[in-house]
Amino acid sequence: MNYRHAYHAGNFADVVKHAVLARLVEYLKQKDKAFRVIDTHAGIGLYDLSSEEAQKTGEWHCGIGRLLDAKMEPKAAKLLAPYLDAVRSADPDGGLSAYPGSPLIVRRLLRKQDRLSAIELHPADFQLLKALFADDFQVRVNELDGWLALGAHLPPKEKRGLVLVDPPFEQEGEFDRLVDGLQRAHKRWPGGIYALWYPIKDRQAVADFREALAGCGIPKILDIRFELRRPSREPRLDGTGMIVVNPPYTLEAELQAMLPALHALLAQEKGAGWSVDWLAGEDERRGDI
Ligand code: SAM
Repeated sequence: MNYRHAYHAGNFADVVKHAVLARLVEYLKQKDKAFRVIDTHAGIGLYDLSSEEAQKTGEWHCGIGRLLDAKMEPKAAKLLAPYLDAVRSADPDGGLSAYPGSPLIVRRLLRKQDRLSAIELHPADFQLLKALFADDFQVRVNELDGWLALGAHLPPKEKRGLVLVDPPFEQEGEFDRLVDGLQRAHKRWPGGIYALWYPIKDRQAVADFREALAGCGIPKILDIRFELRRPSREPRLDGTGMIVVNPPYTLEAELQAMLPALHALLAQEKGAGWSVDWLAGEDERRGDI
């Protein structure tokens, strides 16, 4: 387990992932009934942007650094507001001394009745995450293999909610593990919303992943792709992807408004683009999520 998210916190991939995550949580809040968010690869929750790691790559400058105070078209600004407010709240002065990870962003958006389960396997990261949410009765932090949570932890007792799966992609086979984990989870809890992050780096692996998802028998799979550059010759993180299973009926239109605004700020090359595609069953009847 060599991956350290501190080098990448707040980069363009975090921005897109967390902006989508915030829309999913905001949708769940449209009903009073409590929900649970399960974050299977949670990280440490709060990242110091002046740390040695963050300074070494400087990735956040081309991500959240370009977005936080940017002028935007009003509809996109409104959709991004819950996410950006959560980011601002990580700095007592509302600036960018720190960047919140997925569990802290979710926590900022929860209501009193909602819950978060945050899972992290790296022992040191788990300790930091546990300390961040100490005495917070709405958050449960577990030191556990997140892939296991896709079995035993589902469905949550609230029977409403969202599972974020955001693995580090430092090992071979992570795309296969995502498909397999989703299939196991969906069998136990077909009505949950699932958000799976993936890198756009190895184009063939992405094509195979999309094909496997399209053929896995799960209906209602939306694929969001956001690319900074045209395909690089040498493998490089050219873009970020997110699969959403059982997306809220509002999500597609929100993405059509939000992604162009983000792309205008973050893209690094002409010819790179973004897309939102159904991999399976957009016309299936939507469950009561
Ligand atoms: N979701 C976080 C966010 O958006 O702020 C970032 C997570 S980072 C990409 C992946 C995290 O997964 C790392 O903190 C790593 O230590 C952890 N990790 C790696 N393998 C894991 C496993 N099998 N189960 C749970 N966590 C794992």
